Amino acid sequence: MSAKSIAVLTSGGDAPGMNAAIRAVVRSGISKGFSVLGVRRGYNGLLNGDVYEMNLRSVSDIIGRGGTILYTARSPEFNAPEGVKKAAEVCSRLNVVGVVVIGGDGSFRGARDLTNAGVPCIGIPGTIDNDIASSEYTIGFDTAMNTAVDMIDRIRDTAESHDRCSVVEVMGRHCGDLALQVGVATGAISILVPEMPWDFQTDIIDRIRLAQKTGKRHFIIMVAEGVGGTNEIANRIQKETGIETRATILGHVQRGGSPNLRDRVVASEMGYHAVTLLEEGQGNRVVVVRGGKVVDFDITEALNMKRTFNKALYDVALSISI
Ligand code: ADP
Repeated sequence: MSAKSIAVLTSGGDAPGMNAAIRAVVRSGISKGFSVLGVRRGYNGLLNGDVYEMNLRSVSDIIGRGGTILYTARSPEFNAPEGVKKAAEVCSRLNVVGVVVIGGDGSFRGARDLTNAGVPCIGIPGTIDNDIASSEYTIGFDTAMNTAVDMIDRIRDTAESHDRCSVVEVMGRHCGDLALQVGVATGAISILVPEMPWDFQTDIIDRIRLAQKTGKRHFIIMVAEGVGGTNEIANRIQKETGIETRATILGHVQRGGSPNLRDRVVASEMGYHAVTLLEEGQGNRVVVVRGGKVVDFDITEALNMKRTFNKALYDVALSISI
């Protein structure tokens, strides 16, 4: 391995487009004169030295592939000061002068800690939840939204045929962006998200009854994972209204699949930008989209930012879905 190496890893939940980001890091890293190490299974790979030198061909034919060729993991061992110290030692032994971490907020906390331990890290937001406050967009979100829309269109076909109500749960533990966007796109009559309070009677039953009066006979209720209780909501709707109601939890289908154009392009831009920062000797930065442009922020500053929920779109959804 040459003297100046950078490493790349994917951490936390996977997202379509992570491979496109890895490809961009590897190709731009090599073109800028670094040798690039691929780290397997997130921070675990740094702790175990599970790394391999990547070349231009290591990332051939992956731009359109879902998942992550480097695999991903959650690493409880790294999530402690001794773990971070050990990872920094491994980096120093491997002559790693910088690490690109593709993941979510948890992974960025790890990147901040590793930077503080002497290894400059750059974060790239890869998560289908779009839950990174500092960035208008996270890699995987567009593909996941479109997958969910595709699935729900199918559910809608059968709900319509049987005059049913479908309660559909999409991912998003703390962030309702996916539920909101997909809810608007599939004509959900109610959208339940962690950011907004809701009431079973007024936000679900009253809306169903109102729509029934004008002849609507099938209904979609969108529930974000963080709201939960999807099966219970479905049971209550059936009991209260007599409408046959089914719950569907879309689950991991939303994480897989080939990344779409937006995710491939944003991932490519972010991967390139991350390597440029390492080339400049910078660390503790997260690459984000702001004002439609790829820029970077200090990780600590970024982690302290507060997300804003798109209330305006939520209000649009309420007024046009009955
Ligand atoms: P995500 O990056 O998708 O938010 P997690 O929250 O599971 O996913 O974080 C991924 C990994 O990042 C964790 O398993 C752990 O190794 C590391 N990590 C998370 N939080 C911290 C923290 N506060 N300090 C150091 N490392 C952390």
